[in-house]
Amino acid sequence: DQRIAGITSAIRVIPDFPKPGILFQDITTLLLDVKAFKDAIDLFVERYKGKNITVVAGIEARGFIFGPPIALAIGAKFVPLRKPRKLPGPVISEEYSLEYGTDKIEMHIGAVHEGERVLIIDDLIATGGTLCAAIKLLERVGAEVVECACVIELPELKGKDKLGCKPLFVLVSSD
Ligand code: IMP
Repeated sequence: DQRIAGITSAIRVIPDFPKPGILFQDITTLLLDVKAFKDAIDLFVERYKGKNITVVAGIEARGFIFGPPIALAIGAKFVPLRKPRKLPGPVISEEYSLEYGTDKIEMHIGAVHEGERVLIIDDLIATGGTLCAAIKLLERVGAEVVECACVIELPELKGKDKLGCKPLFVLVSSD
């Protein structure tokens, strides 16, 4: 798809952010490019429209940028998966490991029901730890995770392997 080239070139890569040695993939420049941003949303919508997905679950923070326009276009609700202590109502949470220590994501109880078909969205998959925790969270409430989708994949980190049998759809592979 020729739209991918425009999306790829609209993503800025910043060396040594947030710490030395890290090459940060910055999607804020994609948001500045009206055509590339729309193309990215359209590619997701074309893939998920008509698939009976009732929930788009977006991971904080950049899953909150890509998730809602996709949810509206495919007629699904949007559910935020947030960092700890951000959601005001009762939550369930799932812990996952980072390079140093652990982190958690949380979801409001009652936001997703048993049997619902869910698309999980984030900007980027690195080690896959975040998406893996998101899958567990949704499966704990009896939902069916249809697919995980990201704008960018860092294939060298083999995050896909952590998702088990869940399919992963990405627009751009960055190596
Ligand atoms: P993982 O859990 O190792 O797959 O890391 C993925 C999470 O870290 C996602 O929520 C991303 O938003 C964030 N992340 C890691 N590296 C980058 C980057 O280079 N750019 C933007 N987000 C990143």
